[in-house]
Amino acid sequence: MTSVDEAPRWWSATATWRLLSCPASASPTAAPAKPPEHSASNAGAVAHLALQAWAEAGEWSFPDPGGRLQERFDEVAEVHGAEPARMPQAIITRARLKSRGKELAAILGRASERTGLLSELMLVDDQEHLFGIVDLVAPGPGGLIVDLKTGRDASVLSSPAIEHQMRFYAHLFQATYGSLPQSAIVFSLQSGPVEIGVTPSATAELLSDIRTARLLAGITARPDAATCRFCPKRMICQPHWEALSTWDHADAIEGRIVSIEHSTSGTVALLVGSDWLTGIPAGLLPEGATPGQFVRAVRIRRRRDSPLGDWCATSSTRLHIAPA
Ligand code: SF4
Repeated sequence: MTSVDEAPRWWSATATWRLLSCPASASPTAAPAKPPEHSASNAGAVAHLALQAWAEAGEWSFPDPGGRLQERFDEVAEVHGAEPARMPQAIITRARLKSRGKELAAILGRASERTGLLSELMLVDDQEHLFGIVDLVAPGPGGLIVDLKTGRDASVLSSPAIEHQMRFYAHLFQATYGSLPQSAIVFSLQSGPVEIGVTPSATAELLSDIRTARLLAGITARPDAATCRFCPKRMICQPHWEALSTWDHADAIEGRIVSIEHSTSGTVALLVGSDWLTGIPAGLLPEGATPGQFVRAVRIRRRRDSPLGDWCATSSTRLHIAPA
């Protein structure tokens, strides 16, 4: 654990998932904290806020819970100045709220009869310094935890990362209420409810794995294409740059800038060593970048048989340029 001089670090479900995948990538926080409120920037985010407001107000018990959830969607959009007419997927998301709202209402109605329902609840394990914010919780023995998937993640029924998240939340529930929840449900707006198995042995094993991995935190790097792709430490992680050449589908390059070309369409092309990287939005290139500087580019795509260059930028590409 921590020494007396060392401030305790706190671990969320996401941070522990990263810790278990690659201990060097782990980023615990100084204190348990709720993430910033979802901004209503897309249909999934509006739906999430609508579900939250609907659950907090107990509107699952209305005679037409799905219809009320649709109204909530419209109200949230209006309050946040969002324009569903301009949002991709807004019509289908709104339509799904009606049918899925009824389904979720049935689950919440059964669970909350005895214990009530809390939304966006922070659960904490003080001893292990673990915390998580659970979308919906019916607290106490025989209770329920629900994670709502309304955005791009709504199409995924289950995955190792989702199972980790729900077992982690189940452990926090147990630390708070003394027993595991009776049900741990991932509720996807697209696919409906999926129950994730949470058993005492699964949560005990998870806790033991987390304890072991914490001893390696910040030390042991396990480069892997999927794990590294969105790792915040990627630009400065040397083991990852060394492993890149062994990956079947590398998505990054590094080297000296040999040439910089600006196109009339507002994109930039860089000659990095002997490789051309094209289609970079001009805003991504730091002002004053010049040939001779060392650049790292991540989340780029290799072009096959193209006269336009060897690599092209994607919507999630990032550049890091070291001073000359
Ligand atoms: S870039 Fe990859 S290897 Fe490096 S810390 Fe991140 S996940 Fe680990």
